[in-house]
Amino acid sequence: MAILSYLSFRNIQNENYLIQKNFDENRVSLQKELEDALEKEQSKIFQETKTASLFLYELPKSLLEYGNAASFKDVNGIEAIFLYNNGTLVYPDISSKLLAHTDQFSNSKPSPAESALYLAEQDDSHTQEVLFSREMLARNPLLSPNEQAQNILGLVRLAYRNKDYSEALRLLRILETRPKLQGYLHSDLTRSINLLHFDILVKMKKHQEAEDYCLSVLNQFLQEKTIEDIPSTRFFFETAFTQILSFENLKQEKREAFWNLRGNFNRQLSYTEILMHNQELFQNTLHSESSTKTGILFKSDGNVDLIRMSYPMLSGNQVVIAKIDGAAYRNRLVDKLKDVAQRWKNVPFSITDANDSVLLGSIPDSASIISQTTFSTAQSWQLSLYEKDVGEIRKESRHRMFLMYGLLFFSLITVIFGSFFMLRFFIQEHKLLAMKANFLSSVSHELKTPLTSIKMFAEMMARGRVMKVEKVQEYSGLINKEASRLENLIGAILNYTRMEHGTGAFKWEKLDFSVCAKKVFEAVEDIGVEKGLAFKTHFEPNVYVMGDYTALYSLAQNLIENAIKYTNAPGDIEIKVYNEDDRAVFSVIDTGVGIPSSEQKNIFNDFYRVGDEMTRSTKGSGLGLAIVKRVAETHKATISLVSKPGKGSNFTVRFRKVD
Ligand code: ADP
Repeated sequence: MAILSYLSFRNIQNENYLIQKNFDENRVSLQKELEDALEKEQSKIFQETKTASLFLYELPKSLLEYGNAASFKDVNGIEAIFLYNNGTLVYPDISSKLLAHTDQFSNSKPSPAESALYLAEQDDSHTQEVLFSREMLARNPLLSPNEQAQNILGLVRLAYRNKDYSEALRLLRILETRPKLQGYLHSDLTRSINLLHFDILVKMKKHQEAEDYCLSVLNQFLQEKTIEDIPSTRFFFETAFTQILSFENLKQEKREAFWNLRGNFNRQLSYTEILMHNQELFQNTLHSESSTKTGILFKSDGNVDLIRMSYPMLSGNQVVIAKIDGAAYRNRLVDKLKDVAQRWKNVPFSITDANDSVLLGSIPDSASIISQTTFSTAQSWQLSLYEKDVGEIRKESRHRMFLMYGLLFFSLITVIFGSFFMLRFFIQEHKLLAMKANFLSSVSHELKTPLTSIKMFAEMMARGRVMKVEKVQEYSGLINKEASRLENLIGAILNYTRMEHGTGAFKWEKLDFSVCAKKVFEAVEDIGVEKGLAFKTHFEPNVYVMGDYTALYSLAQNLIENAIKYTNAPGDIEIKVYNEDDRAVFSVIDTGVGIPSSEQKNIFNDFYRVGDEMTRSTKGSGLGLAIVKRVAETHKATISLVSKPGKGSNFTVRFRKVD
């Protein structure tokens, strides 16, 4: 016991050391794998961005063609991609209008008359008066272009309100086709006019005209030198595209074209807005040199993170600037790191971002930091590795020991059980061998005894010693009896070997078991009667079974002969064959010596004989019941045995009945 405890203690010490060493190695591997995973995923994002930007470069130059272009390639983690060629923005191309941006429109105030009319317009009861005044004003040649424009707009509003759409359209066309008048309208007002125009066309169900109108406004927008107001432009096109896409009779190709157009145009507008709000950062980034070998540079102003990539492999001097989508970029990288960390569960670590919030892992309460490294990423994430808790190391080593002992115990149990089963197998084999040997010796003895008698009587007669006729008759009778005993014995052995070789030699036929059993009974009846036994029989006719006649004959013979052999006079033997439901039943009941219950399962084994006095004094091979069992099995029949020592036995075999 003491030795065992000492060994356990030594083992635990050893395990502690091994776990600590293992842990140190794990820590190094974890750090390396995290770094690799991060770098790999980042390069993947760069690669995807490059591919997407190449695609941008190949986009059609005119926006109207965008309707035919394949959809844009999105990159998970990147919000917007900008493409420059020799310092000039190539995509989004509408952004170039930004550079030409000037505020050339003066905000001309409405005249007092216009203001009064506008106010009166809000009141429904004065519609007629307002209309009259506006029509009067429209004829006034002295009205300034600005006032004219405002007045026509008022007339449009009135016509729209009265649902006089064709009049409203006529007036709108006047406003739109005279650049002189239009110039006095604010850009957002221009978009409102566009929207009104489009809306009236839709209301009049002139869908084709509405589509054409939307496209002509788009064309006009592209030809303008500057972008005046992104929100109102976006609002007009978003509303128009959505309306067009909801037209029921829109053809499939057109629907796809408008769908693409909307996507591409919206993207252009959003990217342009990004550019507009961060012009300085973009200019800085564009003109910074990418110092790293990969040609990648990160730039950030605290809010916006940009990646700059230059393309030496393309013609010209291409530069791609991508705006990082903070949350998506971070999630994409953290997901990859999570996969790695999963494999190193027992190493305590944490990854924190620039704001010290934990992205992955956790900061333990007490353990001290072993090392801290900053990943070489734009995010300046930090990896901290911590000392493993001593308690935890002990726990793990105990766990390992437990596993080891468990394994040992299991192996021991396996060995013990294995040996037990092997031993049992050997004992059984040994018993079988002994039985066979016993069988051989008893068989040779059985064969020899009648042979000796036959030889003796035959010799006596051959030498002429027996002269009297009665004696000659007696001896030849004895020779005959012994010869038939010999014949029976050989028959049993042959029968048994026949069973051993399976049912191949069987001849299956439908037969009446009563006839078969009766034949057996008639053959052995004399022996029983001679011994002083009384027989009672019942052979019901037509008890049909499927089987092999010879096999069934030896089954019946063995059971009846056993009953005679193991019953002392005076005794009774009852033999019955009858139908019972779907079974054909054969019973042999005797009032003989009986079989102890402990022996009942053995007697059907090959060569088995009960070791009592009665059996010893009775001739037999131990094969009879083995043959019975085999015949029953091959005929799918069941055997039941009820027996009590000193009272007698009842062997009953139940076959499947056939009609
Ligand atoms: P054996 O040639 O010895 O009769 P069996 O296989 O026919 O061989 O029987 C096995 C043993 O079962 C016998 O040795 C005997 O002890 C016992 N036995 C069989 N039938 C009876 C019975 N009717 N009454 C008592 N014992 C029986």
